[in-house]
Amino acid sequence: MSIPPAQLSTWARNVSPSPTLAVDAKAKALQAAGEDVCSFAAGEPDFDTPEHIKEACIAALKGGKTRYAPTPGIEPLRQAIADRYLAEYGLKAAPSQVIVSPGGKYSCYLGVLATCSPGDEVIIPAPFWVSYPEMVKLAGATPKFVLADDKTGFRLTPAMVEAAITPRTKLLILNSPSNPTGAVYSRQELDAIVAVAMKHNLYILSDEMYEHLVYDGARPTCIATFSKDVEARTITVAGFSKTYAMTGWRIGTTLAPAPIAKAMSELQSQMSSNVTTFAQFGALAALTEKAKTQAALSAMLVAFDRRRRLLHGELNKIPGVSCLLAEGAFYLFPNISRFGLTDLDFCNRLLDTEKVAAVPGSAFGAEGYLRLSYATSDEIIQKGVARLARFCANLKA
Ligand SMILES: *Cc1c(COP(=O)(O)O)cnc(C)c1O
Repeated sequence: MSIPPAQLSTWARNVSPSPTLAVDAKAKALQAAGEDVCSFAAGEPDFDTPEHIKEACIAALKGGKTRYAPTPGIEPLRQAIADRYLAEYGLKAAPSQVIVSPGGKYSCYLGVLATCSPGDEVIIPAPFWVSYPEMVKLAGATPKFVLADDKTGFRLTPAMVEAAITPRTKLLILNSPSNPTGAVYSRQELDAIVAVAMKHNLYILSDEMYEHLVYDGARPTCIATFSKDVEARTITVAGFSKTYAMTGWRIGTTLAPAPIAKAMSELQSQMSSNVTTFAQFGALAALTEKAKTQAALSAMLVAFDRRRRLLHGELNKIPGVSCLLAEGAFYLFPNISRFGLTDLDFCNRLLDTEKVAAVPGSAFGAEGYLRLSYATSDEIIQKGVARLARFCANLKA
């Protein structure tokens, strides 16, 4: 008896695997095989979760917080998230507008599912975080990419957004600070772009995952604070993964207008239910034990900022490479287009010959760049950039 071929769905056939996770996995496999790899591929902090957060989770686990919880999150956590929007941005929100989901990635997906139907178009600024186009496709909607390159600091202008809007446009995704570029929009720039979205009655998915990872005195902007109208059309995504080194915990948050929050909660109730109950108590401690959390975050920011400057300085010393000094997240996005190779070839050869892992810009919709994460040690940065410099010198020779 022969096994029949799998008859996979449209969704399964159309989804592309995450290229960032793929490079990271290849680098880790080389490392496990004993190779001396310098990886700039990580999409997560290299720090451990702060102790007080772990302790609160362990206490909850031992205390029997092991059962189902309400789908949109335990009440004290939803309250603490609403409280922090008030404290940080002066934004008044009810806990019922807050949904706690299994990771910020899932939060984004729920936001797309709650607003987009088949036939709708979604504007995605490129370079983009790799999951947005796939989520849009899984909702049956169509991604429309608008590329902003390094000449505009990887930031869209209102005219670029306006030009991409059609009668079918439903949603605009914004992500500042950005993964992969680290670019941070100013308040004025966002004001102008959001005005265009409002004029055309679009929804906005504002992915503010890196809101706390900003440097050079840059201030994060919470788009939902702009006006009541904007708040009524904006889904704000944030989370614990990047800010508190909690990527493995799988906890993301959204703040949304009440009807959208309700829809997201109902979708989540059928697809995954609540985030791991005891993990939510750890997240709660991150928000309520403020002094300890702030101390841990500040230490992380000092290290990230130092590495950011180190990597930026070293990259710009390499003939043929040019790199902007991004103000947020933990990535730099150098331009390597002058070497006359596709970025994919560049990355493959770099990994093969020099054992340096980087993600090609084309994975993010921007050919000719590399995404380098500096969420790694100063030593790896020094050693990795020296190898990259040698690689570039050999290419030119
Ligand atoms: C990491 C990341 C997320 C989601 O992170 P989770 O680990 O799922 O919480 C969302 N958006 C961007 C831009 C990210 O880089």
